[in-house]
Amino acid sequence: MFPAAFDYRAPATLGDALAILDQQGDDAKVMAGGQSLIPLLRLRFAQPALVLDIGRLPSMSGVSRHDGQLRIGALTRHVDLERSDDLTGGFAILPEAAHWVADPLVRNQGTAGGSICHADPAGDWGAVMLALGADFVVRSASGERVIHAADFFQGPFTTALKANEILTEIRIPIPSGPAGSAYNKLERKVGDFATVAVAVQVELNGGKVSRAGIGLTSVGPSNVKATAAEKALAGLEPTDAVIADAARLAAAAAEPKDDVRGSAEFKKDIVRVFVQRGLKTALARAKGVGA
Ligand SMILES: Cc1cc2nc3c(=O)[nH]c(=O)nc-3n(C[C@H](O)[C@H](O)[C@H](O)COP(=O)(O)OP(=O)(O)OC[C@H]3O[C@@H](n4cnc5c(N)ncnc54)[C@H](O)[C@@H]3O)c2cc1C
Repeated sequence: MFPAAFDYRAPATLGDALAILDQQGDDAKVMAGGQSLIPLLRLRFAQPALVLDIGRLPSMSGVSRHDGQLRIGALTRHVDLERSDDLTGGFAILPEAAHWVADPLVRNQGTAGGSICHADPAGDWGAVMLALGADFVVRSASGERVIHAADFFQGPFTTALKANEILTEIRIPIPSGPAGSAYNKLERKVGDFATVAVAVQVELNGGKVSRAGIGLTSVGPSNVKATAAEKALAGLEPTDAVIADAARLAAAAAEPKDDVRGSAEFKKDIVRVFVQRGLKTALARAKGVGA
């Protein structure tokens, strides 16, 4: 199907984009890589009066370290994260998860920020950002605010973003001690959305877990933060029994549905298995064993 008619603008600066968005509000739709928006337009699920193309705005792409944070521009493409070879240990999850997103065509065009704003419960980046304790910097014509990932995802395809706001940057705390992370995803075929996926990050202090982050994909109305499982790890030596307990709690936090990809019971068990597997990989990475 062809999209309904719309106006198209590609402003040269973020300031211009924000001014246009401020005037148009709900009548405009921001487009970054277009990998989710264009299918929605073609299916006429979205019929905006204006498509505001921010895909080529300067200074909104790339990865840097600043003030104890890893900063990822919202327009950073999946492929750029996939190919970042300096993201290891606590951040190994970033190239790992990027590699699981869709296929090379989508990864070359789609952006991390676009995926986060799209807020598909089956999207990979939401779970990763929940595990990493990310903050999202959003701008409007009237200023800037920072939204914690745990407050950002509010339901299927629904976020805390207002109609006149643009996500500009993702900020992730750089762990102070040894840290590891991992992303495990089960998909029906290469390039598919997750049947289930699990993101984990752990930080260690003197052999004990000082912080754990666990995010789940495709097992709820939005990406799920497995808070009880995270708390069950904090302050403890990560023995097999402690890991098994956290995995059980994460499975209990999952609310999957029976569908063509599998039964709810099956998906909950995959969460349990992937939390165990992810934690073991992340712990090995924190100790400098494995990539
Ligand atoms: C065949 C196919 C397979 C896919 N497989 C996967 C998969 O396995 N895993 C996965 O996670 N995703 C998958 N996707 C989805 C896709 O990867 C992402 O949703 C997409 O890359 C989003 O980024 P984008 O830059 O293309 O966003 P766009 O399509 O441009 O925008 C998506 C939404 O976010 C809003 N938006 C975009 N950027 C901003 C911003 N900076 N500020 C405010 N609002 C913004 C737009 O208004 C729109 O509502 C797949 C998509 C396709 C087509």
